[in-house]
Amino acid sequence: MTSSPHVAIIGAGYAGLSAAVELTRAQVKVSVFEAATVLGGRARVAYPDGRTISNGYHQLFGAYTETLRMLRFLGVNPKTLHTRPFDLFVPERLGLSLSSLPPPLHLSLGMFGASGLGWQDSLAAMRLYWDLRRQRYALRQDITVTQLLADTRQTPLLKELVWNPLCLLMLKTPAERASAQMFANMLRNTLFAGRSEAEWIVPRIDLSELLPVPATLYLSRQGNSVHTAAPIREIQLDEGLFRLKGNASENQLYSHVILAVAPQQAGKLLTGLEALTLLREQIDSVPTENMTTVYLDYGPEVSLPNPVMHLPGPPIRWLFDTARLGSSTGLVACVSIADEPRTALPDEELALDTHHAIERIVPRLPAPRWSHVIREDNAAFSCTPCLVRPRTITPIRNLLLAGDYVESDYPSCIEAAVRSGLAAARQLLRSLPSA
Ligand SMILES: Cc1cc2nc3c(=O)[nH]c(=O)nc-3n(C[C@H](O)[C@H](O)[C@H](O)COP(=O)(O)OP(=O)(O)OC[C@H]3O[C@@H](n4cnc5c(N)ncnc54)[C@H](O)[C@@H]3O)c2cc1C
Repeated sequence: MTSSPHVAIIGAGYAGLSAAVELTRAQVKVSVFEAATVLGGRARVAYPDGRTISNGYHQLFGAYTETLRMLRFLGVNPKTLHTRPFDLFVPERLGLSLSSLPPPLHLSLGMFGASGLGWQDSLAAMRLYWDLRRQRYALRQDITVTQLLADTRQTPLLKELVWNPLCLLMLKTPAERASAQMFANMLRNTLFAGRSEAEWIVPRIDLSELLPVPATLYLSRQGNSVHTAAPIREIQLDEGLFRLKGNASENQLYSHVILAVAPQQAGKLLTGLEALTLLREQIDSVPTENMTTVYLDYGPEVSLPNPVMHLPGPPIRWLFDTARLGSSTGLVACVSIADEPRTALPDEELALDTHHAIERIVPRLPAPRWSHVIREDNAAFSCTPCLVRPRTITPIRNLLLAGDYVESDYPSCIEAAVRSGLAAARQLLRSLPSA
């Protein structure tokens, strides 16, 4: 065992970098290895046709407290985030916002005051609220969101305009396959918690610039390093220490490893470790969902009826007017989650199909000056009922897991990634002998 710990972190996504920052704060030596040339993993920058955009439009909620805390710690200017009160908007069908009164009035006044919902809809929504609260948000048995909505007698209108689109956005999984327990967690943390927890938060800057770049600057100021274009092929155990194959300095030994890659990348790295065969099988069987973002540039004269809105499906499309959300790129971003026949169209046809969908709600919409489609396979883990997620600790001492898919209260999202990184770092710190 080396005299002082040296931790290798594999993956410079939000999970790996959060772990690295937390360990660095505790003055632990850390080296981060990232396969790609850019930082951020799934939440990273992309440069199509020389433009700077995020690899898939991301939105956060006010409830993403650990992400916001991490950004504050790194000294990220709060102005890089655009915050707006939670609302749900479907042109000519729904206008729902929360009241500024304390819970549950924020929700009940919001529901009863919503345009497009009748009193039966609002009563049903409040029934879901009280039902989940009565169970303290811990369902006796995990079922699908569709089943939960049926059991709590949600109206067809609520399902179509409120719960199904929200489930898709929050869990990245369609209601018919999504975990009711995880949906309950997300409602508890956001919409049902209060107005500020439910706030929409969107970065004005690209996702590599938001947290990964300041995190890397912080690490290097503290003497720790992040190596990009440094893919690790295999983790090997050598008398209780770790050697990383693929790493430029393969002879270097590390006291600990935090594996912070996505589930479909993790299994391969664990191949040589017999003690982890079962864990590898568990990780390999984590189901995933694909996501598609269509970016359209209509120029500054065009704006959507609401900065955040959705169009009922199929496919359900979430639309973000990025200019009105504070971004200088001024694009409309249309996010579709999970595969639908329409999202499988070739890029140009999909962009045109999306344009036609927007044309129906924005009169005299000109043709877009530019469009770009980003398809991300395995964008998120599929948040299905009773999914058993791997834990932070593994059967191998000092080998820890981080990543949005690691066991937590959150579905696949930035907050889950940050929390998993912090959990791995704190677990590691607890295991160190006190000085
Ligand atoms: C299109 C899209 C839209 C999304 N929208 C939202 C949203 O609106 N809100 C939200 O909160 N979340 C959203 N998410 C989910 C969010 O991006 C992820 O939950 C989060 O980024 C996961 O972070 P992570 O660090 O766990 O994993 P990753 O970001 O996958 O990071 C893993 C890193 O490990 C690296 N790596 C892999 N293998 C190796 C190797 N062998 N050696 C070295 N490095 C390796 C990868 O290159 C990567 O950088 C979205 C995701 C996508 C793709």
